[in-house]
Formats: sequence, structure tokens, C-alpha cells
Amino acid sequence: MQGLMQHWPLLCSKVIDHAAHEYPLREVVSRSVEGPMHRTNYREVRERALKIAQLLEREGFGLGDRIATMAWNTWRHLECWYGITGIGAIYHTLNPRLFPEQIAWIMNDAEDKLLFVDLTFVPLVEALAPQIASLEKVIVLTDAAHMPETTLPNAVAYEEWLKGADGDFSWRVADENVAAGMCYTSGTTGHPKGVVYSHRSNVLHSMIAQAPDAMGLSSADRMLPIVPLFHANGWGIALTSPMSGAAMVMPGAKMDGASIYDILTTERVTLSAAVPTVWLMLLQHLETSGGELPDLKRVIIGGSACPRRVTEAFQNRYGVKVIHAWGMTEMSPLGTLCSIKPEYADLEGEALLALEEKQGFAPFGVEMKVTDDANVSLPRDGQSFGRLKVRGPAVAKAYYKNQGAEMFDDDGWFDTGDVAHIDPHGYMQITDRAKDVIKSGGEWISTIKIENLAVGHPGVAEAAVIGLRHPKWDERPLLVCVPKAGGSLTKDDLLGYLDGKIAKWWMPDDVVFVDEIPHTATGKIQKTALRKNFADYVLP
Ligand code: ADP
Repeated sequence: MQGLMQHWPLLCSKVIDHAAHEYPLREVVSRSVEGPMHRTNYREVRERALKIAQLLEREGFGLGDRIATMAWNTWRHLECWYGITGIGAIYHTLNPRLFPEQIAWIMNDAEDKLLFVDLTFVPLVEALAPQIASLEKVIVLTDAAHMPETTLPNAVAYEEWLKGADGDFSWRVADENVAAGMCYTSGTTGHPKGVVYSHRSNVLHSMIAQAPDAMGLSSADRMLPIVPLFHANGWGIALTSPMSGAAMVMPGAKMDGASIYDILTTERVTLSAAVPTVWLMLLQHLETSGGELPDLKRVIIGGSACPRRVTEAFQNRYGVKVIHAWGMTEMSPLGTLCSIKPEYADLEGEALLALEEKQGFAPFGVEMKVTDDANVSLPRDGQSFGRLKVRGPAVAKAYYKNQGAEMFDDDGWFDTGDVAHIDPHGYMQITDRAKDVIKSGGEWISTIKIENLAVGHPGVAEAAVIGLRHPKWDERPLLVCVPKAGGSLTKDDLLGYLDGKIAKWWMPDDVVFVDEIPHTATGKIQKTALRKNFADYVLP
């Protein structure tokens, strides 16, 4: 017998409809790219999204068309997501921090037909546009007064364009399995790969994300998504916030410590999400300015491992709860979050901080396991580490154009490329990327573990560990370190500091001091570049 409940397709439009009906006046506040703060609400976001959808359809765009955005987090970018998905087209977020030739490659791969672009990126796109044969039109996210002279094809100012619609329109998508969004992985090895979200996966991901043990959003929150909408589906926040009725505070183009502090305090933000580097900048700003964070209750930190000193500063100095999270573009992106289960409720001090170095446990909707190279599941003992594999309704089942098919197996498990262990209470900890792990004498050494410890030294600004070829052990670790300005850190200081904190055979064979460590477009340490730089380095 079948159930007798309604089929209510899980559509992105349902999310903004819900927000407009239940929380019509909940604010969406943005630092505009033009400068001033801008205030709107979910009712108006929906009204303008309907106008976008109406205009797109009138101009011949429709089901399955890829419509790119290259924009900061502002109300306009948010409206575009809902307008585009409302006609069954696909928002394709472009990361402006990638190399121009990578962006061109991605746009051609996706065959983007239309581009919504922020003023900041007009010069970049002017240089790219001639290489993108599919690109028919560019809409600059500004008003007539700020519209620049441009060579872009069929360029119009967004606010002028919107005047051509009355918004008397209805959403066009009925099938929840239709594609809604697209985001490319940064492609540190080989070409970037396209991940394609569906309406269904986006809505389910938002429901997963708003659960109390996950992001725990509520209508009482004021959420500041610092993580850009173009990074890993914007961590789903463009859907989770309206779904839960949380106000949105959008940082626009300014993400330095002082600007983030300013918007956190003046807009009384209660919850925010960003990668560790952003938080390090904020904490540095607070240290020098002496500021406090009276309204901020929680910060979600992910994208790369959250150093213990960041968690410690937030929780012990500023009274802000840290939720360490792990995810991937391929997972929409949430995978795990480090909320505290009752089993760990008694932990405090260093023991609590050690737990919070873990990336946390899987919410409903994410299944995960760790396997050895023969695909045999390893025990959840908090020690056995191997390949982390995941599956769930918001996890990719394939890449666009079937790239990287070897990452997906017949039982639906996706190999994340991360190496991790899981403890008996389900807390997962990433120990490495599979391609970064150091294999020494047949055993694995976790580079992340050593890096996290090294940055705990007060004289260290940043640290990275890479494996170098070794005649006897196959590979041995080299610690590359950026010392804090004005210090007098030595190799012996640092190795002495690590002594006793890691196994003897994990100890780096050498330490080198550098001015800078190379980073990817998403702010992660670029180990491929680092390994190239030190390819000829001879360990003592
Ligand atoms: P990109 O590689 O393009 O930046 P993703 O955001 O999808 O794109 O990167 C996902 C990867 O980032 C994960 O597979 C993992 O290696 C790393 N990562 C994400 N969050 C964490 C975290 N909290 N700790 C350690 N690594 C993380």
C-alpha cells in the first residue's frame, strides 16, 4: 500500500515563498558594492526575484540554461538565485579569485548564456568575454547612475533592466529533480569539475542544515554569511536563512577584520559562517582594537581545519560558541558539524578544545564511513584512519559531463579524497587529503595534525607540512613555517614545542622558514605548489 500524503515538490521557490509569507519583513541587509548599506526584506526579495524570472523568460532563457553569477554576497545576488531557479534555469556561481583562464575554461565547460556581474568584476569579465562563445548578455548588478562604460556584450544595468517587469508571474518549475545550481570544484588537480545541485537536494540540504545540532538557525537569528555564495554553494545559507526565517546580513566586498567587526556589531549579528583565515583576521583586529562581540553567539568555521587557538579565543575570550564544520562542494556542502552530544557534555578546558578540533558528526541526511584501500570499512575507534566516503540526498552522484567517475562507486558512496578517522560517538576527524598524506615506512603521517599543533606555537603565523622523498622511508615530513613578524623563532624552538605532542616518527625531519605559503583561490594551503617549490630540497 502506498502512503496517502500529498506530493509537494521540494523547490527553491517554495523556500522564498515561505519566507515571504511567514517572515515578510525579516531584514536582508547588505553592504552594497557601491558603498552604502542597503536594507530590504524577504517579501521584496521574492517580488524582485519574480521580476527576474519574468524577464529571463521573456528574453528566451529557460529550463536547463546555465546563468552565471560573479558577485559578492548582497541582496541582488540572492534575488538572482531565486529568479534564475524560478524558471528552471541554473545559477552557476563563478569564483572571481580563480585564474582568468580557469574561469574561461569553466564558463565554456558550463556553456553559460548570461552573466550577472558585480561592478568589481567588470574589467575581469571584459577581458574574458571574447573567449566565451555561449555568452549572449551581461547584466551588471548596479543602477544606471553607477553603470560603467563597457565593451561587454548587450550589457545592461540590473536596476534599469528590472524596470521592464511588473512581477506578475508564477514560478515555472514543478519537478524537484530539475537542476537548480552549479558550482565547480577548484581543481587543484586537473581541470575543475562541475557539481550540479537539484531543487530537491538544495531544499533537503537546507532542512538538514537548520537542525539544532547542525547550524541551528532560527527566526531569532541574524545570520552573516561571510563565506561567499560562489564558494561551495555558499554553504547553503542563501536557502537555509530564508527557510528558517533568520535575517540575513550580507558583507558585500569587504571581508577584512575591521569591516567584519563593523558589520557584526552595527547589525547585531548572532551567527556567522566563514573559513578560518577570515576569523584569524577578525581576531587579530579585536586584539589590536580591543573590541568585544556582545551579540554574536555562534560562528560556523569550516573549509579547512579550524586551529585550536581560534576556537579557544572565540569561546574563552569572547564567549562565542565555535561550531567546527566539514563539507565539500560535492555535498551541497555540509558533511559534519562539531556540536556537543550528551556523551561529551562534561568535557571542559583542553579536553573540550581537543574534541572541537574534530570536524564533528554527520547530521541526518549524511552517511559516512572510513575504509582502507581495499574498500573494507574501518572500526569507529577514533584511530583507524582511511578514506572517508559519504552518501546522502544532497551528495553528488556524478560530476557534470561524467568527469571523475572513479570517485563514485556502485553502492552510491562518494570518495571524498579526504583521510579521516571516526570515534565511537561518531565524531570524525580529517587527518589529511588523500594526496597530501605522508607515507613513511608504510605508515601514514597526518600533515594536518602537525600543522594544527605548529600553529599553536605563539611565534607561528602559518604552517604547512609536506612529504619529501626519502631513500629509506619513502617520504618524510618537512615543516614549512611563516613566523610571526618581529619574533625570533628557531627550528629547535619549534621541534622542541612539538616534542611529546606527536609520535617520535611523526617529527618533521626539518623546518624551513618562509615569508609566505601559497594559497588556492579558496584560501587553502596549496600543497601542490609547495611540493614543487621544495622538490629539490635535501633533508638533513
Ligand atoms: P575547494 O577545494 O574548491 O575549496 P571545497 O570547499 O569543496 O572546495 O573543499 C572541500 C575540502 O576542503 C574537503 O574535502 C576537505 O579536504 C577540506 N575541508 C573542508 N572543511 C574542512 C575542515 N573543517 N577541516 C579540514 N578540512 C576541511
